[in-house]
Amino acid sequence: MNYSDHWQSLINVDQQHIWHPYSSSPNPVAPIGVKKTQGSLITLADDREVVDGMSSWWATIHGYNHPVIMQAMKDQIDSMPHIMFGGLTHEPAVELAKRLIKITPDGLNKVFFADSGSVSMEVAIKIALQYWISKQRPEKNRMLSIRNGYHGDTFATMAVCDPVNGMHHLFNDVLRQSIFAPAPQMGFDIDSDNNDLAELEQILQSHSHEIAALTLEPIVQGAGGMRFYRPAYLKAVRELCTEYDVLMIADEIATGFGRTGKLFACEWANITPDIMTIGKALTGGNLTMAAMLCTDNVSDTICQGEPGVLMHGPTFMANPLACATAIASIDLLLETPWQESIAQIEQHLRTELSPLAELDGVADVRVLGAIGVIEMQRSDLGSQIQASCLENGAWLRPFGKLVYTMPAFNIPKEQLQQLTDAIKAAITKTLSEFKLKG
Ligand SMILES: *Cc1c(COP(=O)(O)O)cnc(C)c1O
Repeated sequence: MNYSDHWQSLINVDQQHIWHPYSSSPNPVAPIGVKKTQGSLITLADDREVVDGMSSWWATIHGYNHPVIMQAMKDQIDSMPHIMFGGLTHEPAVELAKRLIKITPDGLNKVFFADSGSVSMEVAIKIALQYWISKQRPEKNRMLSIRNGYHGDTFATMAVCDPVNGMHHLFNDVLRQSIFAPAPQMGFDIDSDNNDLAELEQILQSHSHEIAALTLEPIVQGAGGMRFYRPAYLKAVRELCTEYDVLMIADEIATGFGRTGKLFACEWANITPDIMTIGKALTGGNLTMAAMLCTDNVSDTICQGEPGVLMHGPTFMANPLACATAIASIDLLLETPWQESIAQIEQHLRTELSPLAELDGVADVRVLGAIGVIEMQRSDLGSQIQASCLENGAWLRPFGKLVYTMPAFNIPKEQLQQLTDAIKAAITKTLSEFKLKG
C-alpha cells in the first residue's frame, strides 16, 4: 500500500501499541487502513474501493451504513443511547425481545441480552449448570461438545471449542475438561451411515449422569473448520439430548439471521434447543450485542432453585442503542426478499467457485446459503491469497486452509461477480506461483 504520511503514522502507532485479533503486539503484519464503508464496498486508506467478502465476520448482512438502520440509530441516540438495565426497562429492549421470541424456534420464551457472542455462550453454559443445581443434581456439571466446534474466546467457551484446532489448546491444563464427541460427518446432503451419531450415543450412555449440556453449532461449524453437516444429525442430537436428559445448547451466533438459507439453522431440522445463543448479525453488524434465549422449563427450574436468580449482569446489557439497531436490522431483513437473495448468492457461488475444486492444491469447495468455502490442501497460502484478492479488488480473510466468503445479502450482482472473480484469480495465481517455486 502507498500510504500518505498521515496514514503511515497511524499505521506505525497501531503496530507499536495495538493488539488485533489473534495477533502479536508489536504486530509484525501491518494492518490495512480503512477510511470508510458503504454498502458492500470498503474504501481503503489509499482511496481504493474493494468489495467486502467477509461481512465483517458474518455480521453486516445488509452491507455497511444501510440508510434505514443509520436512521434508527440516529433517532435512538437523540433520545437515549444508554441506561442501566438493573431494575429499569425500555421500549427498545421490550420490542427486540418480542421479535426474537417470535422469529426463533417455538418455545424459546426467555431472553438474556449480552454484549458479545462469547458472553452469551458463557451465560448459556452458566444457566445449564445452574439448571442441574436447581434440580438437586449438581453432579451433572460437565459439558459435552462436538469436535471442530467454536464457541468463543472466554474461559468457559474455550473449554467447549475443539481441543486441538480450537486455538485454545495452550490453556488445556487450566480449563475444565469437557467431553468431546466426534465431529459430524461432513456434507449437508450426504447419505450417512450415522456412525457419528452412534459414537455420540455411546458417550451419552456412559456419561450422561455427569453431563449438564451439549453444545453445538447447528448445520455449519464456523471458525472450527467451516464444515457443513446434515439436518438429520441435528434432529437426532435433539432426540438424544431429550432421551439422555442433557440440555441442548444451539450456538446460532454465526448461523443466525438467514446466513444458511433459513432464518435460524435449527429450522433445517425443525427443532427447538433448550438454550440458544445469537450475536454477530443481530444488529446487522453495526454494534456489539448478543443474546441467550431459553425455554420456560429452563428458566422456571432456575427460579425455583437456589439462589433463584440467574447470576449474571453485564454493565451494558440491553444497551438501548444496540437494541434499536437490532430491531431495525431484523425488520429490514424480514421486509426484504432475503430468501430469494440468499438463493441467488448460493447459486452464484456454486457456479463460480465449484470449478476451483478441479485445481491441484484445492481439497474441497462447498457452498451453503450465502457461505462459500474453498478448502486448500496447504495451510500456508492464506496471506498470499488475501494479498492477491486485495489487488483484484476484494477483501477476504482466509485462515489456515480455508478461503471463505459470506457476502452481504444485498450485495449488487456486479460486486458479487467482482468478488468471485477476485477469489478465482487469487487462488489460481497463488497455486501456480507456488508450483513454479517448486
Ligand atoms: C463468533 C462466534 C462466537 C463468539 O462471538 P464473539 O462476539 O466473537 O464473542 C461464538 N460462537 C460462534 C459460533 C461464533 O461464530
